[in-house]
Amino acid sequence: MSRRTNASVDVLGLAVPGVRGLEPYHPGKPLEELEREYGVRNAAKLASNESPLGPSPKAMAAAQAALKEVTRYPDGNGFGLKAALARRLSIPPEQITLGNGSNDILELVARGFVTPQNEVIFSEHAFAVYPIVTRAVGARAVVTRARSYGHDLVAMQHAITEHTRLVFIANPNNPTGTWLRAGALESFIGSVPAQVLVVVDEAYFEYVREPDYPDAIQWLARFPNLLVTRTFSKIYGLAGLRVGYALSSPAIADILNRVRQPFNVNSIALAAAAAALEDPDYVERAAQANVEGMRRLTAEFEQMGLSYIPSVGNFICVEVGQADRVYEALLREGVIVRPVTNYGLPKHLRVTVGLPEENERFLQALKKVLG
Ligand SMILES: *Cc1c(COP(=O)(O)O)cnc(C)c1O
Repeated sequence: MSRRTNASVDVLGLAVPGVRGLEPYHPGKPLEELEREYGVRNAAKLASNESPLGPSPKAMAAAQAALKEVTRYPDGNGFGLKAALARRLSIPPEQITLGNGSNDILELVARGFVTPQNEVIFSEHAFAVYPIVTRAVGARAVVTRARSYGHDLVAMQHAITEHTRLVFIANPNNPTGTWLRAGALESFIGSVPAQVLVVVDEAYFEYVREPDYPDAIQWLARFPNLLVTRTFSKIYGLAGLRVGYALSSPAIADILNRVRQPFNVNSIALAAAAAALEDPDYVERAAQANVEGMRRLTAEFEQMGLSYIPSVGNFICVEVGQADRVYEALLREGVIVRPVTNYGLPKHLRVTVGLPEENERFLQALKKVLG
């Protein structure tokens, strides 16, 4: 038998087939990287839909207190956080699964339920993690065409076949900020065959003020194939701690619990998230500040004659022409936004609603760059 040297091994060929075609997720540019690469200091980062207000002081205090116990493994069942969520959402703890961010949950669903023979449906312009978790388990991604940048539920319904195991729906969607009304989404879920799981990703739930915007948790009792995911990364301002959760039937939660890592949520995150739930006034203030910031941004876009995709999240896509060039020029002005070419939107930039002074800085820079 001949032995080859390591250098001749085709590592890409060794990767599982779905992974070979994957591209890594493109995160928003970190502030430190901008400093390193461009020498720009005191930049404004409006690139990752983080809360400009930071976390609630209650969450910060709980995180600090939890630091004292980091020698111990975290509570692998997340008893305290599940109890706090159960109280706030009026749902039994057996229907809650905690994740290392809600991205962890999205992956657990794919690993727990989706085989290489399955198809997974999601929309054009939908959240980038859906194709990653789909292809990583070797399944076929079925991407339906968007309608007015949002999810086309009729197209999604038509895409369902006997091979479909999972449908991802972000409500509202990132990066477009588009949303689905209660009636339409409810009848879609009702029309889906029982063996097809539906994930309704509500990462921005707490920001949305539209009267017809649904709380999908209310449908869990009727749809045993429904999962609702939420996160502490967005309005709660805890993105760096990585904690999110899924609400589902107890049977689905049981499967997710089998595939998750035993200690997938760390002890500081568990403590901070539970404390954050005890500060609803903070959430209300953050949502209100977002409404005002969004109003300011859209008013100025209109003044400047720029089109934008109306958004109910804490971010908005504005059409700027050659977006990659505008993105680079904004970096030089010390403002980090998010290019969305990889979402099929090469003319748009996504900007997160920041503090009033950050929004002004972005708008001034944008005016300068667009000349
Ligand atoms: C930000 C975001 C998430 C949440 O990510 P975490 O892993 O919880 O930080 C999930 N879905 C969408 C659509 C998002 O934009």
